[in-house]
Amino acid sequence: MAVVEIDEVLFSSACGLQPSIERLLAEKSDARSTKIEQLIRNFGEKAKIRVTVVDPDGRVLADSDVAAVTMKNHKLRPEIVQARLGKIGKATRLSESTKTEYYYLAIPLLEKSDPIGILRLAMTTDQTRKRLADISKTFVWFALASTALASIVLFGFARATIAPLRELTHFAGSIARGDYGQRLSPTHWQGEWRLLGKAFDQMQVELQGREDELRTNSDRLSAVLASMHEGIIAVDLQRRVLLANRAAAVILDVPFQELLNRPFYELVRNPFIEECVDEVFKAHRTIGRELETKRQPRRVLAVRFSWIAQFSGEAVVIVVHDVTSLRQLETMRRDFVANVSHELKTPLSSIKAYSETLRLGALEDPVNRLRFVERIEEQANRLSDLILDLIRLARIESGMVAFEVRDISLGHIAQQRIQAFRVQAEKRSLTLELEETLPAIMVRCDEEGLATIFDNLISNAVRYTPEGGQVIVRCSSDALMGILEVIDNGQGIAPEHQERIFERFYRVDKARSSDLGGTGLGLSIVKHFTQFFSGQVSVSSRLGKGTTFTVRLPLSK
Ligand code: ADP
Repeated sequence: MAVVEIDEVLFSSACGLQPSIERLLAEKSDARSTKIEQLIRNFGEKAKIRVTVVDPDGRVLADSDVAAVTMKNHKLRPEIVQARLGKIGKATRLSESTKTEYYYLAIPLLEKSDPIGILRLAMTTDQTRKRLADISKTFVWFALASTALASIVLFGFARATIAPLRELTHFAGSIARGDYGQRLSPTHWQGEWRLLGKAFDQMQVELQGREDELRTNSDRLSAVLASMHEGIIAVDLQRRVLLANRAAAVILDVPFQELLNRPFYELVRNPFIEECVDEVFKAHRTIGRELETKRQPRRVLAVRFSWIAQFSGEAVVIVVHDVTSLRQLETMRRDFVANVSHELKTPLSSIKAYSETLRLGALEDPVNRLRFVERIEEQANRLSDLILDLIRLARIESGMVAFEVRDISLGHIAQQRIQAFRVQAEKRSLTLELEETLPAIMVRCDEEGLATIFDNLISNAVRYTPEGGQVIVRCSSDALMGILEVIDNGQGIAPEHQERIFERFYRVDKARSSDLGGTGLGLSIVKHFTQFFSGQVSVSSRLGKGTTFTVRLPLSK
């Protein structure tokens, strides 16, 4: 590059000088050498280039730096040899005349195509190096300047490109996190970036709309599922739980969180349910089954398995209904009907038997006929009591009973009912007493209802306490409730019976109860009435020592 540069400088200078020197040479006058010398010295000084003019035989005619006469023949100098052959001669060497290293360039001088001399230009290599250094410096400056300029341009371009990209990345990250509250507003962006920014904004609005819609649907579904009493579970082909509600977890007695995350069969360890699910997946039809749980307390479940096809595959939806109480009610109703029939049958059979006996001749039997009629009356009374108790129970259970709930003095009703049982107690030599704390305890209750509670408890105490025993009716209160206790020192009730005596027709000793005129409904009526008045009834008893029934009723305000 540098040599080419020097080459060009020398060559263009040579071309510039060539016509003038050729003209001077062509003059063929004696002064030509002097004129040539003047010309080249002038030029040499200004251009810092050494110029030599040689005749075709190599003799030096003029030189810008050295006196021509002192110079040897240049015929054999390599650049002159080449120029004499009509070429552009070039060489680098130590000059014999100046003892300096030069770079030479020589061109032939012609007159009408005939060689009339050679023009040689030379520059020292120092000059060359200096020029080279200048060129390098210029080049370095130029390179630095271009780099700086390129950097500024690139920086500007990168800023314009990267800033929107960074904002877009940040924005996309927010959308991915479900944060739809931001907007890009790319009004300050250029060209395609602005279009892309607008598309992102639009996409975000659409996504938010869709997510809102999905969330609304999902909330609706969750609300419906959560409000259902029936348990719902959807199981896919791999027997994974796709969906379940809390009722399902409660009915199947598994933690709700586990129901959603674990395989269905690991949780519901019931081969019967497994078989049903398999069958529904195979047959693609709905089946309904009833099953009893193995865990205590045992429950009866009505389960419906339905096959559904959805876009993500097929599934079985299991709807579980806890029908335990329904089945218990059915059993109770069946037992009740059987019990009622039985209870009615016994006095009716007696009445029938006595009346038949009378008809078949006992009417004429003056010794026994009165006894038979008394038996008939007794059984009829029993029937009547039974039917009255049944009516009371049925009315309170159906809610049809019209109670008049008001403030009533517990002690006052207790006094009345004790009076009613006085004769019966005396007949059995029982002491029947009232213990009452003062001032009078007022409870919220219906008068007739309270009387029925007293009657049933006092009649039981009188009946199940042996002769000579003691029955105490005690009225007291605590902060919230009025308390009535019927305490006897009679036969008592074994612990295993204490839970069940409030059931309808439950008797500890059936024959004895019937003999004593019991219907088996008294305590059941007490329990229902007490509950109706927002109270509680309980029993504490020791076999052979006696029994205490306690009824707690809300105090008047
Ligand atoms: P019943 O008409 O047979 O008395 P209840 O429902 O009033 O029916 O009582 C249920 C059973 O509870 C009775 O059959 C009796 O065995 C027992 N029982 C009730 N009260 C007493 C009591 N004070 N002492 C002992 N046993 C009692």
